[in-house]
Amino acid sequence: MDEITLYNTKTRKKERFEPLDPDNVRMYVCGPTVYDRAHLGNARPVVVFDVLYRLLRHVYGPEHVTYVRNFTDVDDKINARAKETGRPIGEITAETTQWFLDDMAALGALEPDEMPRATQYIPQMIAMIEGLIADGFAYEKEGHVLFRVRKYEGYGKLSGRSVDDMIAGARVEVAPYKEDPMDFVLWKPSSDDLPGWESPWGRGRPGWHIECSAMSFELLGESFDIHGGGNDLMFPHHENEIAQSCCAHPEGEFARYWLHNEMLQVEGKKMSKSLGNFFTVHDLLEQGVPGEVIRFVFLSTHYRKPMDWTRRKAFEASETLREWAGMLGSNGAEELESLVPGEPLPEVVEALCDDLNTHAAIQILHKKSLEQRFGKRALRDHVSEIYSSQLMLGFDLRQHASALARADTFDGILRIVEAVGTELPELAEQLAKARQEAKQTKDFSTVDHLKAALVEAGVEVRMSKEGVELVPGPDFDPAKLEALK
Ligand code: AMP
Ligand code: ZN
Repeated sequence: MDEITLYNTKTRKKERFEPLDPDNVRMYVCGPTVYDRAHLGNARPVVVFDVLYRLLRHVYGPEHVTYVRNFTDVDDKINARAKETGRPIGEITAETTQWFLDDMAALGALEPDEMPRATQYIPQMIAMIEGLIADGFAYEKEGHVLFRVRKYEGYGKLSGRSVDDMIAGARVEVAPYKEDPMDFVLWKPSSDDLPGWESPWGRGRPGWHIECSAMSFELLGESFDIHGGGNDLMFPHHENEIAQSCCAHPEGEFARYWLHNEMLQVEGKKMSKSLGNFFTVHDLLEQGVPGEVIRFVFLSTHYRKPMDWTRRKAFEASETLREWAGMLGSNGAEELESLVPGEPLPEVVEALCDDLNTHAAIQILHKKSLEQRFGKRALRDHVSEIYSSQLMLGFDLRQHASALARADTFDGILRIVEAVGTELPELAEQLAKARQEAKQTKDFSTVDHLKAALVEAGVEVRMSKEGVELVPGPDFDPAKLEALK
């Protein structure tokens, strides 16, 4: 069985992944608050954890993985949106939930096995809060129920901060009903115009954090394998989830491996409405950017690195994807029809098993496509492996490939074939010749100049006794080689 290693935020180490029960590998990922379209950043955890889900299904079998991602459908931002627009809350949350599902499907994300909505789990949240009060971990005051943070000694371990540092750094709300400013809300009172449920503390609604603790317990149990989300959720949301769950179910461990994706930026800047660089997934899809391109750009950066969305990357991704589709269609439409997934390339699986190294997996597949273009290796026999490897990353390019197979004059492909298929071998020859000459004259300036230009164009230059090999990387830009002609 393939061995997966994952970076666990809890231990700050890459660890071998060993599920509690290989017959039921369990993962929980914090989902969206449904009051508006998902912005591009919201899609990053969806795509990242979708790849992990696919990998777990590959390693343990599709029937042996349970993936839960929630919808937060009770929240003050939703209440505010209803007030602004005069629309009923249920209508807003139902519409936004469907938008989210449609947009994420366009990015090739599989639906999780369970997608619980917070409002469906209010009785379970109330029961959990009652237990916390009974055991002294929570208290009621003025219709509010608060968690006593100082009662849980592990608080702050995940994000590596002490409670006092957190008080100094965070904007913790001081309120008359709190024993300590760090205490957080489990339940709060609702006025008649706001959503509310009857509870032992009067009519009210849950605080945000309790829903994930209650839903993960109901659907995955007191101990499960993986908990994921963006790193902006580490504190306070995930610290609070841990505190609630570990105090309510001390016999369990709650989540054993914590995975956090880094944030997405746009053209090097934080995405924000005031900078005018804020856009939704839907905006991009509407502009004609295919979902696969968005996905490709996301996966070309490792999930633990900040990722920068740029137009240039989107353009390059679309070129590469055409090429990848071309790999599938190269044996003609007939064979394409009968294409079925088989075993993915072991190198691709290995890269993903290494803390989800999607960047390396993409490079491996990219190299394959270039080998094919150079005609170095006949890929006819490997199409099914390539197809399965693309699927592991969530790209099903059969439709694109059939379009390409029908229209062999498709200019994108031609351009790439021209650029990659003819120009680079010539340049490799030129470089080998220059190197030969330089060995005599001891003047390496031409070699250095050629090499620098190739590297600048995104080409990896490999020089050995056997000769020169030029391997275009994912950032390869044929236009930059113009000057060398
Ligand atoms: P929210 O609806 O704000 O609770 O966010 C839903 C998910 O999107 C969470 O997992 C966040 O961590 C994630 N998220 C929000 N903004 C970004 C961003 N700019 N980059 C990556 N992930 C983000
Ligand atoms: Zn959560």
